[in-house]
Amino acid sequence: MASIELQAVEKWFGTIQVIKGVDLKIEEGEFIIFVGPSGCGKSTLLRMIAGLEETSRGKIFVGDRDATSEPPSKRGLAMVFQSYALYPHMSVRDNVGFALKAAGEPKEVIAQKVDEAAHVLKLTDYMDRRPKDLSGGQRQRVAIGRSIVRDPTAFLFDEPLSNLDAALRVEMRYELAKLHRSLASTMIYVTHDQVEAMTLADRIVVLEAGKIAQVGSPKELYERPGNLFVAQFIGSPK
Ligand code: ADP
Ligand code: MG
Repeated sequence: MASIELQAVEKWFGTIQVIKGVDLKIEEGEFIIFVGPSGCGKSTLLRMIAGLEETSRGKIFVGDRDATSEPPSKRGLAMVFQSYALYPHMSVRDNVGFALKAAGEPKEVIAQKVDEAAHVLKLTDYMDRRPKDLSGGQRQRVAIGRSIVRDPTAFLFDEPLSNLDAALRVEMRYELAKLHRSLASTMIYVTHDQVEAMTLADRIVVLEAGKIAQVGSPKELYERPGNLFVAQFIGSPK
């Protein structure tokens, strides 16, 4: 069963069409990565799945549910925002538990879920610190922790590593791969970094000007690029 399915999805901003009929089945537990050059529509497509952008045409299914018109909070998906979106005045513990507190969950439930998330993300030693006293990688994990506590159907990431330095990017890539293995949850991830895509993805979706140019495993795309655009994009140095 596909956990998320896009059917003939289009996005228009006024008279400009930026997503031009996208069909895609994302399987449960899959790490799927949208790649493509700047402006090709990666963020727009991800935001449509999250419900942060309206879908102009077509349908988006989450499980068996037609979620096309559902608000973000109803979709059960978690958009992981960049680590600089943490609340600076709150401790790690309060940042991670924030969504649960806002939803009015009982204290004991919040404490248990926050502890579980901290354990999975190896944050237990930092729970009383403020974001400014954490490394970039730790902050990234707190940002993910804020989503994990809500048990989402899928995690959505928009270039989560783009503001990190090269060494940290490599470390976080490794951590994200580990996290995906341990959570076994669906991850939909946007990047313009081919290396990131090739190392993390189960399948890569190459977008070209609002359309899917090719979908396949990293190996398939590398060995049998469907057209010159894919070949150049996958083959080009960053
Ligand atoms: P990417 O994430 O691949 O760089 P985006 O999804 O951000 O691309 O943008 C795709 C296209 O849609 C771009 O041409 C961008 O200028 C346009 N776009 C994005 N958001 C808006 C908006 N709110 N209003 C008008 N045009 C937009
Ligand atoms: Mg973008």
